[in-house]
Amino acid sequence: MNPIIKTLEVKNVITKSNLPVCDYSVNPYVGCTHACKYCYASFMKKFTGHDEDWGTFLDVKIWNKIKNPQRYAGKSFFMSSVTDPYNPQEKIYRRTREFLEIFQGVDINLSLQTKSDLILRDLDLIRTFKNIRVGFSINTLDENFKDDMDKAVSIERRLAAMKILHEAGIRTTCFISPIFPGITDVVAIIYAAKNFCNLVWLENLNLRGNFKPKIFAYVREKYPKLLPLYNEIYHKKNLGYWFELHKIVEDYAAKNHLEYVRNRDDMQRDFDAPPVIVNFFFHEQIKNTPR
Ligand code: SF4
Repeated sequence: MNPIIKTLEVKNVITKSNLPVCDYSVNPYVGCTHACKYCYASFMKKFTGHDEDWGTFLDVKIWNKIKNPQRYAGKSFFMSSVTDPYNPQEKIYRRTREFLEIFQGVDINLSLQTKSDLILRDLDLIRTFKNIRVGFSINTLDENFKDDMDKAVSIERRLAAMKILHEAGIRTTCFISPIFPGITDVVAIIYAAKNFCNLVWLENLNLRGNFKPKIFAYVREKYPKLLPLYNEIYHKKNLGYWFELHKIVEDYAAKNHLEYVRNRDDMQRDFDAPPVIVNFFFHEQIKNTPR
């Protein structure tokens, strides 16, 4: 079924952000047709006036002229927090590209996060930013699991795009998120991506909201043997799985001479210095627990 596409006139596409990683977030669209089953942004639906399911609608933002983009020099921007800036419709509507055009020559710190290789279309603009980072979300190498979870391009295409950007001198991140217990092979993904990225960022699956029953139903149907593990983690709040995974990644990093830190503030090394920095993004509950 084709998504329902509308245009939406807005005063501004730049929003002051509470995220620790940026001053502003930029969402050129409302909704996201990648339709990930676990999408944390789906809570947004209640603010959009849409009755349709998350993933089946997209509002294309048309914003007022951004006056004097130079006043944002030195600020950090994240694209995007509640949509994918390179969803398939970006090919037609080019809203992300317009944003990049507006900020040509402005010294902002820009982070782009996507599940699409459509980003390669904008390499001509991307390479003109002095401080830019492109992250690809990859939480499996199994294309069947990927197809069950989202409507974005294949993992193979994401990795190929990451390689092209990396070879073009763009800082890239492999964002392994969300990590599905017993399904996401974190080490295999790091192995596949480590030569094409400057940073590997890990985040565990956090089940909340109305997608928790959906994910449980999926696990029950496709991975019934994992149900006890999911019950242990998501009903009994047992964190043991994440500590074991932490140890596995720590050992892998040590054997492969990769720096591994538990959160971004612990990083000793510059992003650009080889080898890859492996960064475990624990959720608060885990982060506050002593080693
Ligand atoms: S790509 Fe991101 S914003 Fe879009 S549906 Fe997936 S998780 Fe949500």
